[in-house]
Amino acid sequence: MKRLGAAGLLLAIGTANAMTVSCGRLLDVKAGVWREKVTILIEDGKVKSISPTQGKADVDLGSMSCMPGFIDMHVHLTHETQPQVDSLYGELSLDAIDRAYESVHFAERTLKAGFTTVRDLGAGEGLNIAMKRAINTGAIIGPRMFTAGKAIATTGGHGDPSNGDSRELHRLRGTPGPQEGVINSPDEARQAVRARYQEGADVIKITATGGVLSQASSGMNAQFDDAELKALVAAARDYGFKVAAHAHGAEGMKRALRAGVDSIEHGTFMDDEAIALFKKTGGWYVPTISAGRYVADKAKEPNYYSALVQPKAAAIGPQIQGTFARAYKAGVKIAFGTDAGVFPHGENAKEFAYMVEAGMPPLEAIRAATVSAATLLGQANRLGSLEPGYAADIVAVAGDPLQDITLLQKVGFVMKEGVIYKQ
Ligand SMILES: [Zn+2]
Repeated sequence: MKRLGAAGLLLAIGTANAMTVSCGRLLDVKAGVWREKVTILIEDGKVKSISPTQGKADVDLGSMSCMPGFIDMHVHLTHETQPQVDSLYGELSLDAIDRAYESVHFAERTLKAGFTTVRDLGAGEGLNIAMKRAINTGAIIGPRMFTAGKAIATTGGHGDPSNGDSRELHRLRGTPGPQEGVINSPDEARQAVRARYQEGADVIKITATGGVLSQASSGMNAQFDDAELKALVAAARDYGFKVAAHAHGAEGMKRALRAGVDSIEHGTFMDDEAIALFKKTGGWYVPTISAGRYVADKAKEPNYYSALVQPKAAAIGPQIQGTFARAYKAGVKIAFGTDAGVFPHGENAKEFAYMVEAGMPPLEAIRAATVSAATLLGQANRLGSLEPGYAADIVAVAGDPLQDITLLQKVGFVMKEGVIYKQ
């Protein structure tokens, strides 16, 4: 049994590196059926075998429904939403190291909510990459992370860290360039991708249109030209990166899909032509309904967002769930993603209920967060399913989540790579 890292809870069960977990039933996400009363043998953090339960297992989940650990394809683990006054004060008074300390429990909350893997789509100062390292060494507790490092944007675009700075502050901080993820030409696009490789990113995130929470007037406009997009994707391919493109407006979304990005995040104002492009290119849609609903709600509170952000949150937020319903009906490939950080970490599983509310069957919603997400991650041969050779990432709930999807918001057991974090 491996040590449990910072929590210090050592579970003396099983042998040195092997243990058994019995499940009342286990969801075979690929076949779409429950396997009744099975025992999972785990060795070295991986599933060794799954067989009918006989006798007593090291961990008895005999009354629970087991599933592969969930994967959230869009989080920001080193940030969490705050009213503008707190967030402004934080900007002025806190250093990156403060951000790092305060985000330690965001990672722990996410894992304990049943999300054993996340794709972190952007943070400054190398925070998300440092967090990934700390989780990998066991210094802190959190999900397995794949990270984008700093998202790539254009000057004034969504993800330009100097947006909202006064002229004085801008002079002090300097103008961000490719190293800081801001580009204005194909050459700089290549440079920015290579800088992500250098900083230790796993995936490239670009902000193909304006965004809701940036201090800029448009949440919709296209923000890269075709030549820049082509250079971004080509450079990403050279380094084995997939490309995730944030997009609300249709034009920027279509340019990104034509350039060959792997996923569109949010996709708010997806039109029929964009839907056709998804199907033609095989691009994935990561909806983030949770973020849309949360910002639409907060836009009603006076002064939660700045005067620039509030109207964007009110206009864009409420649209995403309807877009998701249309995209699902049209047969667009969907991977589960929430944009956690825009709302409190650990509430990721609400997304399942929003997906089901919009017309997706519960089994499909769970597949979006397991096999489909693993495929988009490029990890389909080791994550997103429980079968021999796969990571022993197991979550369990009481009751049948295919009958009541909200049960996934009350995960009772979490194991990541053979180590129990919640029981
Ligand atoms: Zn995001």
